[in-house]
Amino acid sequence: MSIFIHQDNRFEQSEITSRECPHCGAHAQLLPVATPSFEALNGYRPRHVGIGFRCAACAEPRFTRVAVRAYEDSHIELSSNLVEIERGRERFQFSYLPPAVERIFREALQCYTAGCHNAFASMCRRTVQTSLADMGANAKLRWHDLFREVVAIGDLDDSVVRTLESVLFGTDDAMPEIQAGEAAVLIEAIKDMVYQCYIRTAKLRAALKMRRYFAEEQANKITSIDRRAVRAESA
Ligand SMILES: [Zn+2]
Repeated sequence: MSIFIHQDNRFEQSEITSRECPHCGAHAQLLPVATPSFEALNGYRPRHVGIGFRCAACAEPRFTRVAVRAYEDSHIELSSNLVEIERGRERFQFSYLPPAVERIFREALQCYTAGCHNAFASMCRRTVQTSLADMGANAKLRWHDLFREVVAIGDLDDSVVRTLESVLFGTDDAMPEIQAGEAAVLIEAIKDMVYQCYIRTAKLRAALKMRRYFAEEQANKITSIDRRAVRAESA
């Protein structure tokens, strides 16, 4: 499959591409809105061209780079492999986090999105340190427990565990250098740990409060009906 730019600037794409949108998260079609002109491309003959699409779900722009396959007299043939310039952002329910933890953790996830894996690792350590300062006395034990839980569930290799442990809890200034594979494990681990630490707690507390409230409400209603029934019987 190829994409064609015809001599009259007509844009021909035999198959419309659908992908997860970095803006809205929907698996939506990419609809072409800004396509290069035949004349301009023929004049400069670049090896790659840019095409602007619009997300069919949220209408935000999606910028792509595409390789040129051939310059012909009647058309220009482009590869159908659209390389997106903007990467999908890591999603997280930041609103549950204390402001200081949120600021650092947001940057950590941005580093990962940008492909800066060692900057990401450093920000993960800062996320843990900020959380420890925020949570007080038992926080260190809690974070270590969360890490061990991730290791057990993920059945992680010893060498990966050692690296991630020293990234997250290392006390000296030495920070191990991490590779893409370790960063991929670290992103899932840190998201789960921050989730367990703050979001699970907040959600569970809110759910319990709600259940108790409705249970009490229900109990009160039942009592009042019973009283009425007793009164009706005795009348
Ligand atoms: Zn979208």
